[in-house]
Amino acid sequence: MNMPSHPADTPLATIRANIAQSEKIAGRPAGSTTLIAISKTKPAEAIEDLIELGHRVFGENRVQEAQAKFPDMRARYPDLELHMVGQLQSNKADEAVALFDCIHSLDRMSLAKALAAAMTKAGRQVPCFVQVNISEEEQKGGCAIADLPQFLEQVRALGLPIIGLMAVPPADVEPSPYFALLAKLARDHGLDQLSIGMSGDYETAVRIGATHVRVGSALFGAR
Ligand SMILES: *Cc1c(COP(=O)(O)O)cnc(C)c1O
Repeated sequence: MNMPSHPADTPLATIRANIAQSEKIAGRPAGSTTLIAISKTKPAEAIEDLIELGHRVFGENRVQEAQAKFPDMRARYPDLELHMVGQLQSNKADEAVALFDCIHSLDRMSLAKALAAAMTKAGRQVPCFVQVNISEEEQKGGCAIADLPQFLEQVRALGLPIIGLMAVPPADVEPSPYFALLAKLARDHGLDQLSIGMSGDYETAVRIGATHVRVGSALFGAR
């Protein structure tokens, strides 16, 4: 294992410091942002390196890959927290509910129904973010902005624990207007958690109110 000579030299330490600084600038309480280490495509050893540095919150974007890497790790580190951030197929709802502690990609009624049934069956409530297609890009996952009020009403009626909104803004444009719009939508709907910000824009996201940032390549290196 390539342990750095001093933990202060790691990308993890840098990112934590940047998050703390952004919280301070925004007048937010220290520690009010959860850093999710997005470990998709990365081997178990890379995850263990972060665990050894004290990190416990990880995210994956595919059920199968998470299933291959995490059950073993969870047996050894019971305090691990695992988030699902990628598109989820309804037929994977049972597996997702068994494996993940939080789902960031709830974006359609068929999935909502499958998750509600899976949670009832498993006797396990998994908090969910509703993903919003904030840039209205056709190829992107997420509930359309215009459909959000009705969708939230319907998923809440199913009894799903909805904790906030999630979005992935378009690549290569200034993300703050998208982050601000998502923050406003969350406020309008009485939701206080925001899953926004990735390697290139997590500091901006924290200043706008991200409660969860999803950082992959800045922590683990390029994919
Ligand atoms: C891969 C991924 C991330 C992390 O992206 P980086 O740019 O590597 O930080 C965040 N959110 C989602 C939904 C992803 O799929």
